[in-house]
Amino acid sequence: MTTDMGSLPGRWDDAADVVVIGSGFAGFAAAASAAAAGSSVIIIEKMAQYGGNSAINLGDYASWDDGRHRRAAQGLGDDSAERHAADALAAGQHYGDPELVAMMAREAPAALDCMMAEGGLRLHAALHRQGGGGFRMHFADSGRDFVEALRAIALKHGATLRSGAKLERIWRDGAGGPVVGVAIVTTDGLRNLTARQAVVLATGGFGADISMRRAFRPILTAAYNTTNHPGATGEAIRLAQSIGADALHLAFIEVHPFAHPETGVLDAAARYALRLRRHGGIIVSRAGRRFVNEMAPHDAISRAAVATGERPVYAIFNEAMLNAAREERTDAEIATALAHGLVFHAATLVELGAMLGIPGKTIETTAQRFVGFLAPGQDKDFARPLTSALLPLDAGPYYGIPRWPAVHFTAGGLRIDSRARVIDIDGAPIPRLYAAGEVTGGIHGMGRTGGNSTTAPIVYGRIAGAEAAALKRREE
Ligand code: ADP
Repeated sequence: MTTDMGSLPGRWDDAADVVVIGSGFAGFAAAASAAAAGSSVIIIEKMAQYGGNSAINLGDYASWDDGRHRRAAQGLGDDSAERHAADALAAGQHYGDPELVAMMAREAPAALDCMMAEGGLRLHAALHRQGGGGFRMHFADSGRDFVEALRAIALKHGATLRSGAKLERIWRDGAGGPVVGVAIVTTDGLRNLTARQAVVLATGGFGADISMRRAFRPILTAAYNTTNHPGATGEAIRLAQSIGADALHLAFIEVHPFAHPETGVLDAAARYALRLRRHGGIIVSRAGRRFVNEMAPHDAISRAAVATGERPVYAIFNEAMLNAAREERTDAEIATALAHGLVFHAATLVELGAMLGIPGKTIETTAQRFVGFLAPGQDKDFARPLTSALLPLDAGPYYGIPRWPAVHFTAGGLRIDSRARVIDIDGAPIPRLYAAGEVTGGIHGMGRTGGNSTTAPIVYGRIAGAEAAALKRREE
């Protein structure tokens, strides 16, 4: 390997045993476990606020058990680390690394218990079911609750957080040598920090980084919004690669077809657009026409939406479908969505069209044509599988929700092993460099069940922090 490492700084502006880059689930989890084990820890965050994507996460945490055995107490059946891992691998279409996934599942309960016992995390008593798994989702009000719990543990043990400081370079002592520190850019200029024990990269994914996502999926241009916070950019992956780190699965980028068309946020309306398809809802373009099999995979719906050439597209359904989806929403939620202009409703499709600013007569013709496909069970336009469970879109009141695709999650990233060590292009761990969370690849593969994107960064952040803390200090 002939990577140019550059000459190390002559002097360091600051030092800590462990330097953690990023302040989401993974960063605070790493900082918490390293600081609890007695290491001095500095956390570097480029944004003014901490929390990254983690703080806007929905707050599901996948775990097959917890210290209070909520599943068993509620009679929700058996579960195990093995089943959790098997479901995660299947959701990822077996692209995930079984060893990494097994570790995530095995350690999920301990990480959850630690946040509750030491960080004051409060979970809802119920569990819910998501994706392929059983009742495995423990949930809080939002991802921020987990961030706050981990942050509380980290700060209690003396970790310090520096925000407005961006990783600019990783200092490695020679091509085969250890990582010894980082350069960061702050309002005071460039600063060099040495890490006496290790550097942990916890910088999240690159969903907001248009040029990087295009480098791996050229189709994901600015025509796609993102659900991510603006700091979700991939420079840390590139910096790690420049000192020899390997990466994988960088093209595995998850797109959500039904985000808010201006903000890219996955609001409650995104859930209705998603779920009401199952009851007979359709999606139309600004011309008022269907343009895709509404049950197609997310990527295909998103591609077709962009190909309509005009933002946004609209999920259309009626009151009967909304009633059929009763367990998936509350009246209060719908009332709020209507009040905020996220969801529109009208007595007829013609009136709905007028509200949405698209030709209502065409929506009506489109709906009639689709309803005509239901009895024969054949969608002549887009080959959507039709079942007898679908309700006809032929009676009001009707609802419409403007939607647009957004890049949601980047499953690929730096290659790590089950000790969270960053692996180089020759297959060896880079001494004193760890990574955890969305900046890493190899766990979620080609698809994930939501809660694992909370569990994985927290479990691997804890592992990275504990490993870093267990290292001897470098000779200086
Ligand atoms: P994860 O869920 O993997 O912890 P998050 O997106 O929640 O990921 O957190 C990653 C954090 O890292 C974000 O707050 C982001 O602003 C920060 N970050 C990303 N790149 C850098 C960088 N170059 N320097 C410092 N912080 C960074």
